[in-house]
Amino acid sequence: MIRRLLAVLLALLVVLVLSAKARPWLSDPSEGAPPPATSTSSGAATIRTPHEVTDRPPVPAPAVPLLDSVTRLTVRLQLTGEAERHFLDSLMVETDSIVRRWNADGGHLTYAIVPGGPASFLPEMVQDARWAIDTWSPAVVGLPFLEVKDTTEARLIIRWTDTLSAERAGVTDVVWDQAGRIHRAAVLLATRAPATGRPLSEEIRRAVALHEIGHALGLPHSADPGDVMYPIATKVDLSARDRFSLTLLYGLPVGWIGGGTPPFQR
Ligand SMILES: [Zn+2]
Repeated sequence: MIRRLLAVLLALLVVLVLSAKARPWLSDPSEGAPPPATSTSSGAATIRTPHEVTDRPPVPAPAVPLLDSVTRLTVRLQLTGEAERHFLDSLMVETDSIVRRWNADGGHLTYAIVPGGPASFLPEMVQDARWAIDTWSPAVVGLPFLEVKDTTEARLIIRWTDTLSAERAGVTDVVWDQAGRIHRAAVLLATRAPATGRPLSEEIRRAVALHEIGHALGLPHSADPGDVMYPIATKVDLSARDRFSLTLLYGLPVGWIGGGTPPFQR
């Protein structure tokens, strides 16, 4: 009984803390609100997209227990032990040590590609998004993708905008809970380079789409310029590290893997 009472009190505390941290400008990326800096340069070949993942504070999931300390340690060792094969260790170094991904649950990851938007939108941009999904999907074990037309049925939505602020070419808004489960994601892709106003080339559009979809699937940045998930998005071919990172991510238990006190309980 006392345990239940403590659990309820803890849940209430988490809700209060997260409410206080809520960032209203993250409410809808399609409104063009200013998430953290990302940049694209004016050059055709150097589109920078650092820090464009606008992870929201996790939505409370107090009913889900934390991973136990042994599991957390096991995952940490797994990440550091195969560090040359993947870049998921940056989850611990650069982010909040929460392994997050979609939960297959035996179902599909429904996604919707919403054509149109800015006057600079081109119909072939839909193919960029579909190509990016198809390029990643073989590396995601146990999570089949399903394209839907109705955005209310989609958990992943891809849209376009004319330009993004700063120098960014894409932005991904991911909503997840404390248990590491991604609930929904929204990818917003620019059609033109902000610095010059020039239309982005197909190669750059695809590089950015591939990079952003990688974030939408839960991948962090890589420090290796040879990877699609390197902050400067220029690659249109997945590296072995990109593929292995995604496959590994979908084989790990989700949730916070740090030591000490979870960040959302401090
Ligand atoms: Zn990125």
